[in-house]
Amino acid sequence: MHLLIRDATLLDGSTGSIGIEGNRIACIGVDATAESDTPPTRVIDGTDLLAMPGLVNAHTHAAMTLFRGYGDDMPLMPWLQERIWPAEAKLTDDDVYWGTRLACAEMIRTGTTLFNDMYWKVPNAVRAIADSGLRATVSGGLISGDFLGDLKGEITELIAKYEGGEFPDRVRLAIAPHAVYTVTPEDLEWCAQLASDHDLPIQIHLSETLHEVEECVATHGVKPTFHLKRHGILDRPTTLAHGVWLERDELELLADHPATVVHNPVSNLKLACGQGREVRGWFDYPTAKAEGVNVALATDGTASNTNLDMFEEMKFASLMAKHASGDPTCMPAAETLDIATRGGADGMGWTDAGRLEVGALADIVLVSMREVTLTPVHDPVSHVVYAANGGTVHTTICDGQVLMEDGRIEGLEEVRARAIEAARRVTTG
Ligand SMILES: [Zn+2]
Repeated sequence: MHLLIRDATLLDGSTGSIGIEGNRIACIGVDATAESDTPPTRVIDGTDLLAMPGLVNAHTHAAMTLFRGYGDDMPLMPWLQERIWPAEAKLTDDDVYWGTRLACAEMIRTGTTLFNDMYWKVPNAVRAIADSGLRATVSGGLISGDFLGDLKGEITELIAKYEGGEFPDRVRLAIAPHAVYTVTPEDLEWCAQLASDHDLPIQIHLSETLHEVEECVATHGVKPTFHLKRHGILDRPTTLAHGVWLERDELELLADHPATVVHNPVSNLKLACGQGREVRGWFDYPTAKAEGVNVALATDGTASNTNLDMFEEMKFASLMAKHASGDPTCMPAAETLDIATRGGADGMGWTDAGRLEVGALADIVLVSMREVTLTPVHDPVSHVVYAANGGTVHTTICDGQVLMEDGRIEGLEEVRARAIEAARRVTTG
């Protein structure tokens, strides 16, 4: 056994130790050491620490940390046209590397161990994730047309690298048509075929705004989910980010496919994606749940959030569900935590991550119960969702490796300095 977390508080309130062998959880129990032949190489004292599965951020654009707070409180299109797109046009390979490193550092700091990324210049993100120690599925966003260069060629090259064993085991590949309003039906089919040929999952944005839905109906004659169905996307395991405007028949359709709706409450609220004509849109969690749709949780990119703190996201998700449904019992704490861990991991195909159980991947977060905001403790799960925040994370372990202990991340100062330098360059004339 190479790592033992001794006498931590578990989510059910009991005290237990967790033994880790290699990258897996070997044992959980009152005396986890008794089950191992060899003494642990390293011991973490779990006194006053709550052990939980690492959080899963099921939709983000990691390198966009460089644009954190750059153009807040703006409408979507001017924000994209005046701020984000001109800055993105200047991004170099190194910028994507350091932006992704910064995102990884923030996720390690705030207790996320697995994330679902969609961006460009992906090999640099892969390098950054490999160096950070986190687990991720990456994808290069496809937008139809050639104004962003040969994106299809880049995706094909990426598959060759992935299949050629150039990714670490912690990093997998997905195919990411950007959205129904940026990708032609022919290109959706190209993506579906590619994903099928190479046995890869798909990630896409779906039903983020009412405009997107109305435009899809006007152009293609069907709502966005049926449009995806028609062009083969739903035949693959797919994560669909946003789902603000999904209606019951679309959720029914998704329930019959290997699909996961990824809820991004903070991004949706910040960009007022629920703005409609007579009604306000919101991700209809009660209906998704009733229909049996797998649900996950995410921050979206920092440019529209403005952080990657999944604790904050859990609280917003639960409060938004209660507010929108008028039901304070809607999305209770345990369900919210399940969505933010197992829901995301399963949706991304990492079915042995996102859970704290024997045999699962050792992605574990220890939250400091010494924090005044978490005192006293009646129900650890309620605290995790409603009282904790990323800053209360004490230790982050991914793939059996300690990436942060007592709030300290190795190499953080260099990551900060290089990311600040990159952000300054791409956001100034
Ligand atoms: Zn997004």
